[in-house]
Amino acid sequence: PGTTVLDMRVAILGDEYVLLLAEDQTEIVRAQSVRSDFVANVSHELKTPVGAIRLLSEAIDDAADDPEAIRHFTKSLHKESARLSALVQDIMELSRLQGTDVVAAGQPVDLDRVVGEAIDRNRLTAESREIKIVAGGRINAQAFGDVDLLTTALRNLIDNAIRYSPSGTRVGIGLRERDGMIQISVTDQGPGISEEEQERIFERFYRVDAARSRQTGGTGLGLSIVKHVMQQHGGEVTVWSREGHGSTFTLSIPVMEDMDFPETLAESSS
Ligand code: ADP
Repeated sequence: PGTTVLDMRVAILGDEYVLLLAEDQTEIVRAQSVRSDFVANVSHELKTPVGAIRLLSEAIDDAADDPEAIRHFTKSLHKESARLSALVQDIMELSRLQGTDVVAAGQPVDLDRVVGEAIDRNRLTAESREIKIVAGGRINAQAFGDVDLLTTALRNLIDNAIRYSPSGTRVGIGLRERDGMIQISVTDQGPGISEEEQERIFERFYRVDAARSRQTGGTGLGLSIVKHVMQQHGGEVTVWSREGHGSTFTLSIPVMEDMDFPETLAESSS
C-alpha cells in the first residue's frame, strides 16, 4: 500500500524463478520523513520547558533560606509548567485531528454558535490585556463538520489576535457568505506579518519571533492546527496582513445548503 509498481520482471536464479518488483516508494519515504521531522521537533520543543523545570526545582532547593528567590523561581516554574501543558495539549489536538474523519463523523454545525463559543473562551485573556472583542451580526448558516474542531480553529485565531496585539486595541470578528462559502474573519491591530513570513506561519512550530511567542505563551502549533481543521472541512484558512497595519485571518468553509436536517441531529452536534 502507498507504493506504485514501476516494473516487474521474472529472473531465474539456479532452479528457482524469482519475481522482481520495482516500486516507487516516494510517498512512503515522504510520509516517514514528515513523521520523523515532527517527532524531532516535538522532542526539541518539549526539552526546553522540561529542562527549565528541572533547573528551577534545583534552584528552589538551593535557595532554602531566601524567600524572595524562592518566590521568583516558583513564578518561573509556574510559567514553564503552563507552557509544557499548552504544548502537550496542542500536540494531542494535532494527533486527534489526524485520526478524525470529519466527513464520516460530521454533523450540521451552527456557525453563529461556533463564533459565540470561541469568543467566550477568549474573554478572560482579552480582558486581562484590555482588548475589546467586537463581533458583527449573526449569519444564521450551517456548515457540515465537527463543532469542537471548528471552535478550536476560531479560538486559536482569536487567541493569536489577542496575544500579538498591544493592549487597549480591538479585535474584530466578521461573518459573511460569499460564493457558497461562509467566511469568518478575525482582524487585529497588532504588528502585522511580512509577506515572506505569511508563507511560513502555518508550518508546525514556525514562529516569526520564537522568544516573543514563548513569552506570550505560544507553542508554534496553533496555526497548523487551524490549517488541518479547515482542510478536513473542505475549507481553508488565509491571511491578509501588512507590517505595521495589523492582520486579518479568514476561515472559509462550504455552507451547508440543505437545512432540512432534523432538529435532533443538529442538536446532537453539541
Ligand atoms: P504561536 O503559538 O507561536 O502563536 P501559531 O502557529 O499560532 O504559533 O502562529 C505562528 C506565528 O505566526 C506566531 O509565532 C507569530 O509570529 C505569527 N502570528 C500568528 N498570528 C499572528 C497575529 N495575529 N499577528 C501577528 N503575528 C501573528
